[in-house]
Formats: sequence, structure tokens, C-alpha cells
Amino acid sequence: MKIHLRHIHADGLHLEGEEECLIPDLAAEEVRCKGPLRYALDLGISEGALWATGSLAQPVELTCVRCLEPFPFDIEAKAFSIHVDLTGPELIDLTPYLREDILLNLPAHPHCDREGGRVCPARTLTESGAATPEADEKRQPDWSVLDKLKLKP
Ligand SMILES: [Zn+2]
Repeated sequence: MKIHLRHIHADGLHLEGEEECLIPDLAAEEVRCKGPLRYALDLGISEGALWATGSLAQPVELTCVRCLEPFPFDIEAKAFSIHVDLTGPELIDLTPYLREDILLNLPAHPHCDREGGRVCPARTLTESGAATPEADEKRQPDWSVLDKLKLKP
């Protein structure tokens, strides 16, 4: 996403729209883009620097680390904010900044119940299967060895 400084007027520039997914390379890591990146940005120039604030949303499909099932998720960066010193070129590429912020908001160990808002099938399985029979723990102690010892003079 390239911005020409000429397009940013004194009162700033508001940009809203969609951009092709910036993280297609993460498909190998179980993060698959499910649509374009949606953005709403406010840009401005002050004291030789470009600033931008806004929000980003990237719909993806993640894989739950527990049940290994894919589920939809929106990576959201609600407080995107950059401040770039203008050093020469009039064309500023925002792509690396947008990409970095998306990666920062990507859950490292996605759970389909926590991030996907559904019931994780693996979790239900663990909870019903985790009930250990109490009979084992309340087994009567074996006193026979002690009884034999008492018989000795
Ligand atoms: Zn799950």
C-alpha cells in the first residue's frame, strides 16, 4: 500500500478500503487468508514526519492447537499507529508497517473456543474423560506386614 505525499493535504487524509492479504506466506504456519485486509486510516504530515493511525482487520483461518480443526478468525489491530520520518522519497510504502501490526495481533497458540468463540471438541473430550475413579485412592491400607512384625519378641 503506497501513499504519495502529494495526496496528503494540510488537513490530513482519510483512507478506507481493502487491500490484498499481506501475510500469504503464513499459510505454511496454519494461518490462511480468507479475504482481503480491511483498513481505515487517518494520515497526516507534521514536522517532517508522516503519521498514521487507524484500525485493521484481516480475516483468516487458524488451526486450533488442541483439536487441530480449522476455524475462522479476524486478526484485528484496533490501534494501528505509526510515525515515520520523511527522509526523501515522496512515495511511502505502508505495507511493512501494516504487516507488522497484523503479525503482532496474531494469536500464537490459537484455541477454537477462546479465539473462535465455539466449543472445542477436544476440550469436551478431556473433561469427561478426566474423571478418575476415587476407589483407587481410598483403598484400605495393608496392615498384614505390620501384624507380622508385632508377633516378634
Ligand atoms: Zn479446538
